[in-house]
Amino acid sequence: MIPSLEQLLRARSGVLTEKLVRQPGAFGLGQVPARLTPDATTTMVCGFCSTGCGLNVHLRDSLAVNLSADPDYPVNRGMACPKGWEALAPLDAPDRGTKPLLRTNGGELTAISWERAIALFCEKLQAIRAAHGPESVAFLSTGQIPTEEMAFLGALFKFGMGFVHCDSNTRQCMATAHVAYKESFGFDAPPYTYADFEESDVLVFIGSNPCIAHPIMWQRVMRNPHQPAIVVIDPRRTETAMAATQHLPLRPKSDLVLLYGLAHLLLRLEAVDRDFVAAHTTGFEAFADFVRPFTISRVAEETGLAEEKLWRLAGTIAQGKRVSFWWTMGVNQSHESTRTAQAVINLALMTGQIGRPGTGANSITGQCNAMGSRLFANATSLLGGHDANDAADRTKVAGVLGIPEDLIPRQPSLAYDQIVDGIESGRIRALWVIGTNSSHSWVDRNRFNALLEKLDFLVVQDMYASTDTAKRADLYLPAAGWGEKDGTLINSERRIGLIKKVRRAPGEALADFHIFRLIAEVWGCGALFARWTSPEAVFHLLRELSRGRPYDITGISGYRMIDEQSGIQWPLTESQIEAFGKAEETGPEPEPKPEQSAPTIPRERRLFADGTFFTADGRARFVFAEPRPMPEKPDGDFPFLLLTGRGTSSQWHTNTRTGKSDVLRKLYPPDCYLEIHPNDAARLGIAPGATVKISSRRASITAAAFVTPAVQPGQVFAPMHYEEVNQLTFPAFDPHSRQPSYKACAVRVERG
Ligand code: SF4
Repeated sequence: MIPSLEQLLRARSGVLTEKLVRQPGAFGLGQVPARLTPDATTTMVCGFCSTGCGLNVHLRDSLAVNLSADPDYPVNRGMACPKGWEALAPLDAPDRGTKPLLRTNGGELTAISWERAIALFCEKLQAIRAAHGPESVAFLSTGQIPTEEMAFLGALFKFGMGFVHCDSNTRQCMATAHVAYKESFGFDAPPYTYADFEESDVLVFIGSNPCIAHPIMWQRVMRNPHQPAIVVIDPRRTETAMAATQHLPLRPKSDLVLLYGLAHLLLRLEAVDRDFVAAHTTGFEAFADFVRPFTISRVAEETGLAEEKLWRLAGTIAQGKRVSFWWTMGVNQSHESTRTAQAVINLALMTGQIGRPGTGANSITGQCNAMGSRLFANATSLLGGHDANDAADRTKVAGVLGIPEDLIPRQPSLAYDQIVDGIESGRIRALWVIGTNSSHSWVDRNRFNALLEKLDFLVVQDMYASTDTAKRADLYLPAAGWGEKDGTLINSERRIGLIKKVRRAPGEALADFHIFRLIAEVWGCGALFARWTSPEAVFHLLRELSRGRPYDITGISGYRMIDEQSGIQWPLTESQIEAFGKAEETGPEPEPKPEQSAPTIPRERRLFADGTFFTADGRARFVFAEPRPMPEKPDGDFPFLLLTGRGTSSQWHTNTRTGKSDVLRKLYPPDCYLEIHPNDAARLGIAPGATVKISSRRASITAAAFVTPAVQPGQVFAPMHYEEVNQLTFPAFDPHSRQPSYKACAVRVERG
């Protein structure tokens, strides 16, 4: 039977008030940890993007007052992009959420106590569960919170609260890389280390603009002493393309054809590493047969690229000694993204360009903890990259966590787009959104926002009550942000870095971790999480879960070791520690040391040096399929193709944080703009800076014209950071990763 609100309050409010909420320092309202020296500098990693730069945080009275780039951190070596330098500014924004808010009958959001908020949260969701079953409630989370919070959320939701369907905004950026690696390598395992940027003699960037999207990674390329060939495959003449030695401005979404064509040419050039292929891969002969019809004339015709450019690139790859392939959202956000990512992987495998310095088929991640989400979100795979349908995996996870095995649901979760469809069909009745701004960022956002109206209950947990999504919430829970809590993030090169509490969260905002603890307590499943007492306690549980897995981190003794080592790449097993030299053991609550101990672990480690992959037979797979046509092509009514992507390095996703910095706001245009080719602008009578109307089959928006030859005739580009843009995008999804195809839809452009 579901307890009433009054019963819950009577039963639980004492616990909430005395133990959890009001206790100074315990849950985000009080002091920063005592281990931080009052006036000193501590180090932590940046909480924006997946580069994972190290920052020196300068303290006064134990609170952060400034920061600078860490010269000793192996990722960024003293550099930071504008977002990193301004990372403290969003914490001081005046629109931070300071109290829980409840929508009244009059439609206003009004402040309520945490006791009432959590009691109401549990009462509502329990009532919906009782009426509509365990599939009726879903959450959408984020790649921006620490691994320990992701793990807690996923475990609480599925094992404690008994729900099934959950996903994260990492579906929008990294789901493709996850599935592609898993199918090709046997596990989601980006093989590289950032040193590879400096060690390649050929770097091929596919659908990737690191100058803007990953500027510190680009700085690592600029430090490459080998005068490398830099190839950019991108329809736009991006900042990276301008700096490249070869730019291939292919037709949008012809990348799969191009990559198969390159494989065909590499076969003709006899550039296949036959020894590597024979010893370490499966399926090459079938792949070689498959790419035979991708002749140079066909590929030139379908990609719009001259044959000489194709031969030149194939020759560059064939002659390269250390060739690395890098892809980002231009590949991941496509209607056939998984096979495209695997086409990149196939090139590295057939040429044996993997496992050595300066090589690899390397997915660059987006968010600061997308890698943590891929391992520990407990959404599509069981916590820690396990399989819910594997009895041994269920037994292991239940044993490590100390929970009954039958609490682990075997039913797979719906993906993000399927959760959205579930709202439309009535299958999903309540939605809990944590740290993401779906009302802005989801593809075809007007449909998403209309569907939110159908929900019985929408909860938004975020730093700000002012996001597009939070403004629609029935219940808003104020969350602490980066810098206001402890935890770990995993960057693109698999490096686990530390974040620390160096600021007090404003008002009554709580760390997500502690909101989950409150919910567990009031829901009635607190006993299941009795050992989940702090982020570091959870880290130790996750460490044990990693035992025997490809990402085994049993060699990491705790947060202090991560701190002392300037981050640690996975895997790091106990036996590796033996090999590297015994590392000092530390407990879960380490005391400060007067001096750091010398690093004992190599700072840059890559995977597959021995050619052994994570498949059952240790061999990598060639995976391929026929290209499919773009779902929404330009036509007579909508003759332009709209491309979307990042605008500047000072903007982050939906600008919820970067929009709070006076400095960052000066570094990007305040209003939406549309890049259009000069020929098209002249034909339509559009002057630079003029207002243009952009229409798709879903909506019309206006923007300022940015007339530039960076885009090709017939194509236009708009940055995703402006809330208008996803009104236009077309909801097509890769069938394997279910990642949305943001990059290509048909639009009409007119003078505004
Ligand atoms: Fe580094 Fe990314 Fe932070 Fe910029 S946003 S400082 S590149 S981690």
